[in-house]
Amino acid sequence: MQDTNTEVKGRVFKIESLNTHNGPGYRTVIYMKGCPLNCLWCHNPEGISSGKEIWIMHSKCIGCLSCVDACPQSALSPGENGIIVNRDKCVGCYTCVDVCPAKAIEKLGEDLTVSVVFDRVLRDKPFLDASEGGITVTGGEPGLSPEFVSRLFIECRNEGIHTAFDTSGHIPTKALEMIIPHTDLVFFDLKVMDEESAKHLTGQGTSRIFDSLEWIKAYKEQHGKPELQFRTPIIPGSTNSVENLNTIAQVIRDNYSGLFTEWELNLFNDICEDKYQRLDKPWHYTGIKLDHNAYLQIEKFKDENPDLKIKISGFYQKNA
Ligand code: SF4
Ligand code: SF4
Repeated sequence: MQDTNTEVKGRVFKIESLNTHNGPGYRTVIYMKGCPLNCLWCHNPEGISSGKEIWIMHSKCIGCLSCVDACPQSALSPGENGIIVNRDKCVGCYTCVDVCPAKAIEKLGEDLTVSVVFDRVLRDKPFLDASEGGITVTGGEPGLSPEFVSRLFIECRNEGIHTAFDTSGHIPTKALEMIIPHTDLVFFDLKVMDEESAKHLTGQGTSRIFDSLEWIKAYKEQHGKPELQFRTPIIPGSTNSVENLNTIAQVIRDNYSGLFTEWELNLFNDICEDKYQRLDKPWHYTGIKLDHNAYLQIEKFKDENPDLKIKISGFYQKNA
């Protein structure tokens, strides 16, 4: 009999093997489409919309116009700098992807069943086992696909594969109820504490996020798991102020001391800028760098707060 549970679908925009930045050991990382936030610095802007999208690698395009002719929505047209996508018209049918002889058009989002994704995870299992790694779901916001994530985690757990859930926390309690019991490690983002700044920089306030964190805290106090790690992106001019970091430190110290194993401060870089161009979206950090002096401030903050188990990750630009 068919196991219908593993036929649940999730919209995935990337699967990455042998990732070393999202949990212990090697990770198979599943990137899910759709996010309730819209952080100005998002490094995966292709994950924000829940819809299927495309982007065009203009350097690969040979200008044959097959995509323009094939698009049933007339969403593509030739422009001075390559093919132009009318994103209001595009419905994500991917006809253009199929006809492009140069493989210049990429799909952003495919509806994959749990069984398809799990088979892909199993291919990596020797590496996951050897490194005591596992899978990590991220996005986008995987908490918007709770049925898919929980079923995938159940399959993984049945095979002894470690599961990590990377969340903004801006998700319904129902999603936590479905996912957290099958999760070994939660990465929980704490980005901006000031309510008005949070709305401006991330598109949402913080109350839903703290409700989720309180729910996880209560679950962990009752069940002793999952492991909890905090993450803060260090974005120049947006999240890296001493005031913001001190407020996060106070929140962690006052409410979650003893419940978390690490607070990761992830340094800003601008390597995602070309993604914004490909998506026809504005990039808000043109010319902005996290320089060596800003890095030294973060190191000082870490040294001054040894109880907060801070880890600095990512890289920064050396001063000229
Ligand atoms: S995905 Fe479909 S609708 Fe969108 S541009 Fe390609 S062919 Fe047109
Ligand atoms: S089909 Fe591919 S190669 Fe041809 S114009 Fe479109 S993007 Fe360029």
